[in-house]
Amino acid sequence: MERGPGSSIRVRVPAKINLHLGVGPRRPDGYHDVVSVLQTVGLHDTLELILDGDGHWAHPAARRRMRASLTLAGSEGEGTARGVPEGADNLVLVAARRLMAHLGIDGGPEGERTPQGHDGAASTDDGPWTRMRLTKRIPVAAGMAGGSADAAAALVGLNRLWGADLDVTTLRDVAALVGSDVPFCIEGGTALATGTGTSVARVLNGTTTYWVVGIDRSPLSTADVYAAFDTLAPPAPTSPDAVLHALRTGDLGELAHSLHNDLEPAAIALRPELAGRRDAMLDVGALGSLVSGSGPTVLGLARDAEDARRIAAAVADVFDVVEVAAAPAGGPEVTAQRTS
Ligand code: ATP
Repeated sequence: MERGPGSSIRVRVPAKINLHLGVGPRRPDGYHDVVSVLQTVGLHDTLELILDGDGHWAHPAARRRMRASLTLAGSEGEGTARGVPEGADNLVLVAARRLMAHLGIDGGPEGERTPQGHDGAASTDDGPWTRMRLTKRIPVAAGMAGGSADAAAALVGLNRLWGADLDVTTLRDVAALVGSDVPFCIEGGTALATGTGTSVARVLNGTTTYWVVGIDRSPLSTADVYAAFDTLAPPAPTSPDAVLHALRTGDLGELAHSLHNDLEPAAIALRPELAGRRDAMLDVGALGSLVSGSGPTVLGLARDAEDARRIAAAVADVFDVVEVAAAPAGGPEVTAQRTS
């Protein structure tokens, strides 16, 4: 559907956790093949997108031209947005540029920012603008794919706002050009990812699980964790079958025993305290515990929501921030929309 100036949309997008993460050796191109069982979990970022511009937008030629800008809203949890780039490197803008390229839209010079009028509002002199505003709640560089989730929010939101009407398969193809976890984040839910993580197949899941999410405010770079992984002895190949079976049947005990992350030893090599934090979750009764993705977030599997709140209270002193979140948490969700 065509949308004009003043149209806006808000997209709420969840973080992810890996229940199984098998990592192969470093390939000649520097990437690693993975076999990963992913789920979205109820910690969300929010991206607001607003179409700006005057009558230019109504002119067909304007559709070949679009400028996009991003601002970061004050973080809701103190310090959670630290380290998030505001300029062209933010994955929201990387995703916007990839989508523009796919649609044949000229996005202007990289890193260009919204021109400001005297009242601080975006000038409309230069044709249509899409202004985006990101509110972070997902911890940054924490192994929860916050940047990838934001990129997916941008692709889903812009596809809707611009009336591009690309189907999910095409959006996933564009997402794969942005980053490994982005195709998964387009639909979220529960999935098996292979290749470099960009080949995504949805899998059956028969249960909602409750997690205690132990957050460390000091980021851990995914690249550093992979570099540490490359220096360690290669792990024996593992299979995601037990996790997939446990998800299908809802057997929490089997799920707890089959949680697996090949990046965990590398994350612990860089942050030795993570081993103690994982043990702390188990000591207070979590069914299972593991480092989330490349860390440093540590996850504890609870029996139910009440058990999760109890465990969270018991480990409150062990982490900078502790949250309780349910999985799976769906995918990007359009929570507000105004069409003009
Ligand atoms: P991974 O997807 O590898 O698990 P992560 O969850 O550990 O990543 P992110 O929160 O996605 O980490 O951030 C990784 C880095 O990406 C940050 O340090 C930051 O420099 C950059 N980045 C770019 N855009 C964003 C964004 N929108 N939100 C968070 N970080 C971003």
